[in-house]
Order: sequence, then C-alpha cells, then structure tokens
Amino acid sequence: MSKHVFVTGGVVSSLGKGLTAASVALLLSRRGYRVRLQKLDPYLNVDPGTMSPYQHGEVYVTADGAETDLDLGHYERFTGIPCTRGSNCTSGRIYSSVIAREREGQYLGKTVQVIPHVTDEIKRNILALADDETDVVVTEIGGTVGDIESLPFLEAIRQLRHEIGRDNGLFMHITLVPYIRAAGELKTKPSQQSVGILRSIGIFPDMLVCRCEQPLAAEHRDKLALFCNVDRNLVIEEKDVDHSIYEVPVELARQDLDVYVLEKLRLHVNALEMDDWRAMLDRLIAPGSGETRIAVVGKYVSLRDAYKSVYEALTHAGIANDVRVNVDMVEAEDIERDGAERHLADADGILAPGGFGERGIEGKIAAARFARENQVPFLGICLGMQCAVVDFARHVCGWADANSAEFVPDTAHPVIALMEDQKRVANKGGTMRLGHYACRLAPDTLAARAYGTKEIKERHRHRFEFNAAFRAHMEEKGLVFSGLSPDGQLVEIVELRDHPWFVACQFHPEFQSTPLHSHPLFRGFVAQARERRGGAVSGDQ
Ligand code: GLN
Repeated sequence: MSKHVFVTGGVVSSLGKGLTAASVALLLSRRGYRVRLQKLDPYLNVDPGTMSPYQHGEVYVTADGAETDLDLGHYERFTGIPCTRGSNCTSGRIYSSVIAREREGQYLGKTVQVIPHVTDEIKRNILALADDETDVVVTEIGGTVGDIESLPFLEAIRQLRHEIGRDNGLFMHITLVPYIRAAGELKTKPSQQSVGILRSIGIFPDMLVCRCEQPLAAEHRDKLALFCNVDRNLVIEEKDVDHSIYEVPVELARQDLDVYVLEKLRLHVNALEMDDWRAMLDRLIAPGSGETRIAVVGKYVSLRDAYKSVYEALTHAGIANDVRVNVDMVEAEDIERDGAERHLADADGILAPGGFGERGIEGKIAAARFARENQVPFLGICLGMQCAVVDFARHVCGWADANSAEFVPDTAHPVIALMEDQKRVANKGGTMRLGHYACRLAPDTLAARAYGTKEIKERHRHRFEFNAAFRAHMEEKGLVFSGLSPDGQLVEIVELRDHPWFVACQFHPEFQSTPLHSHPLFRGFVAQARERRGGAVSGDQ
C-alpha cells in the first residue's frame, strides 16, 4: 500500500509549495523510495491550457500530452520522475467527470453533492497514483488554506487520511513567517491562524515548513510548536536560498525533514544519496568558465513564470558547460520599435521562445534575422522556429509577404500553415498537437551532433507547422531540414549551414531538461554562446 504526503499552503500564495513538494519527493527517492507527485488545482478551468500566461505562467506539457501547471515542471526537473495526465487535476476536471457521470445516470435517484460525490471523485484521483509501483504519493493542494475554492480538496484529504490511517498519511503545511522590518522581528501569528483554519476543518498538520527571510530562532520554533500543536523538531525552516532553487532540498535535508517524513510514515530510513546533486550545485554556484549572456526575445518577459522551463533549461545548460548564464529578457516589441541591434548587440546567444498571437511577432522575426546575419548562436522554439522560417523566406528567398497563416491567413507565401488535422478542430481546450512525437535527425547536422543519436522524442504544443509546399525551394536556398517526423512529412527542426549554430525546433526541448541532464539543444546552444564570448578557457573572461 502506498503512503501519502499531503502538502497544503497557508497565509499567502507563491510560497514555493511546488518546490517544497518536489524537494520532498527528491529526498524520498534518494532514500530509495518510489515516489510520484501530483498537484490538485482548485480553479474551474479543466486544465490551464486555455489560460493566458499572465494568469497562470507557463503551461507545462507532459510526455503523454497533458497541459498542466508549471509546478509539474519542478516535479520533473527535481526528481526526474515523469509526470502524466493523472499528475494534475483541477476542480474543472473533477466537476466535469461528476457531471458526466450524473448525465450517464450513474447516480440515479441520488442528489449529487459536493460531499460525498465531488470529494469521492477527488479521492479517486489521488488514489489513482497509488499503485503497486509507488511507495509514496506526494499530493500538493494548490491555492491557500481559507479559500472557498480549496475546501472540497481539503475535505477530501481529511477523509482520505482518516481512511488510510495516520501511519500512512502525513499533512505538511507550508506557511509564511514574515519579517517585520520596523519591529525587527519574525512574526508567527499568521502561521498560527492558518493552522487554526486547518484545524477548524479537521486537519491537524503533522509538520510545518516555514518560509522566511530570516532564520527562525529557538523562541519562534517553541511558539510555533506550542500553538500549532506540532512536535518541535517538525517545525522546519525554509529560508530564502542564496543562489538557486536547487539548494532547497539540500537545506531541507540538513534539517532532516525527509527523516521525519519517513519516521511518521513508518518507513525505514535508508541512506541518503545526494552526491551528484551536491556536485551539480557546486558547478551551478561557482562555474569555472566565466559567464555568457543570452537574450530571450519574448512577449511575456515582464513575467518570469511565463518562460519558466526555458530559463531553467538555460541554467541547466550553464551547469553542463560550467559557465554562468546571464539572461537578458528582451521585449519583442522593443525590437520592433528600436531595431534589433540596440537590444541584441551584446548577446552571445539569442533565444526565441514559443508563444501565441500576433503581438511582438515582427520583433521575433527581426531577432532571428539579426542572429542569422551576425552569426550569433540562435535557438528558436516553436513560435520562435516559425519566426526564423518567416525571416528566411522573406530575406533569403525574397518573398516579402511571407508569413505564418496564424497571422496573415491569405498571404501568397504562408510558409507556416495550419496543420492538416487541426483544420477540423473547433474546441480550443486540449486540442493542439500535444505531447511526445518521434523525430528523425539528418546525419551530419548541428542537431544530430548535439543529440548524438538518430531518433529522438520531444514534446509539442502547437497548431501550425512548416508548410511542406515551400520545402524544396527553401532547401535550395540553404535552409537545412535536420529533423523530420519518421514518415518524413513533418518538419521538426530547421537549421542554417553557413552559421556557427542556428537551430530552431517545432517542439519544446525545455520541458525535458533537468539540472542533472541538461537538454542537448540547450547545451549545444550555450556551448556556442560561451565560445563566442571567448570563455572557453577555464576562468577566462
Ligand atoms: N502559435 C504557434 C502554433 O500554434 C506556436 C505555438 C507555440 O509556440 N507553442 O503553432
């Protein structure tokens, strides 16, 4: 039987519950346990796929094609354990299955209610991950304790822990212990109140993880233990880390958080194996080969969460190349206004990420052109690849009106066109080309060299694609099609021949990068950027 860790959050949102859940899972897996993670989100969208990045940040895509919360990205990056469709479940999904079941007549005669029908459905979802292959399921409840929306989820985990017994389930509450500058003090009252709310609905947290800017003193631990009714050693400090989110698990392990979790769950405390993780952190914190500057040209640059996995993948590539990657976030519209030179002249590498909609498109196309003409290493992702193709069509093939049909449907040169099987799609939710697809690499290309293999699988999220009608002509003009679908029909990667490193892909490589296994394309890209800066020699600036 699997054991369960339920993670809730109190006082405010953005406490980094996802990072904590991911860190707990990493530590348990490094003590020899098979762990799975999931996130339950209280909003009514069936998944975040239809939400704007401004609302929600990045939409993370799993291998099996689910559009999910960005915390699942942390889960996979920290643990290397693949998430699936079952790893993210929203109120919207729960309610739609309950209502579908009601329409099928499965509750015939009964009044369908939040308790027990919605809570039962939530429990079913949680237990779906608790199979024979899984020792511990870590379930994070989105939102903040006290919100109306999250009540059914909290009631469901309360019931579930009652049913499985206290040795098999643990409540971990993540809370804020703010530092009040004027008083020069840390305050425990908000945490006490948040635990009070949990207790009023029947959940007595076993463990408190306290997010704070300043270290907790003995008196704070005593107070929190006494008034929140938890053992003193189960008041864990999670202070802001100095350098990187990847320090969080190490900090939690230093306080034996994982040991206490295992003891509470009556699981044997095996040795903790974290040598590779610590070595990775050393490289990340003090790289030996200087710095490099990467410009990310996007339209949501004011919001760090919108390109979360891209920024993380750049960090991973820095670790692999022993170089510090400084990211310059460049607003695509600023390039439209001021020209590319002004914003990109200092970049050692230019990255154009994915996106939707017309705003900023000309800026991205100009960025790709700048990289192409000035021999600056370039990585284009999804929309970024499509923009690189449009630049090539306009300025190398000479088709001034070339565009993506997403923006100008009636152009004479729609070099990016709606995919055939998207033409019949009416609903917006979950209908893009999503998840893993195989891709064959052409020998002797930048892509083949970066991957060191012939066939890859990468994650997708798009409706438009390279228009095969223009393939022969663009190939003649020098565009290299280095990655194709196994049937040879679909263009997955394009690159340039007379350029140090210009690769653009239709898929999202950032979703498969982890700090211990940097993605080959990001690694290759950052290696070239480092080269350009002249930092190839260790310590050289
Ligand atoms: N908007 C483009 C498409 O749908 C690109 C999508 C993306 O960048 N994820 O094809």
